[in-house]
Amino acid sequence: MARTRKPVVEVRRSQRRRRTVSAYREGERVVVLIPDRFSRAEETEWVARMLARLAAREERVRHTDNELLGRAHKLIARYLSDHARDVNPVSVRWVTNQNGRWGSCTPDDGTIRISHRIQEMPDWVIDYVLLHELAHLVVPSHNAAFWELVSRYPKAERARGYLEGISAATGLVLAD
Ligand SMILES: [Zn+2]
Repeated sequence: MARTRKPVVEVRRSQRRRRTVSAYREGERVVVLIPDRFSRAEETEWVARMLARLAAREERVRHTDNELLGRAHKLIARYLSDHARDVNPVSVRWVTNQNGRWGSCTPDDGTIRISHRIQEMPDWVIDYVLLHELAHLVVPSHNAAFWELVSRYPKAERARGYLEGISAATGLVLAD
């Protein structure tokens, strides 16, 4: 029977913390920060609680990444079916470390990253950003052939306007 491996937990006590407990992954370990005044029993209780919470959070992220990949495949089927052989993304993920870009892709390994900043935007905008990156798997640069692919998406112009509006409002300069 398969058993899930228990993560190595490092508990760090902080004098400055009063009530807040937090946990995050650091390499192979999980670091749990607790207030110094916690008893051993409270420590045990909170470590278990935070591990469960962390696992739930990671499961949620996996779920939404899978959703994103599923969406990418739907867009390929609908708009890029004539290039299906070239457009074969191996991973499509939400990322939080992408400053100044809505999305990016690496044609060499077929990976696509989408900024978490568009997560709350309408679906048709997210689809545009996805399709834009998928089209880059066929044509890496922003040339006429590229825009022909993107323009197959009926709301492409509208989505570009939407994103430009947000860029203008937030003062962000977005590369893509
Ligand atoms: Zn682009």
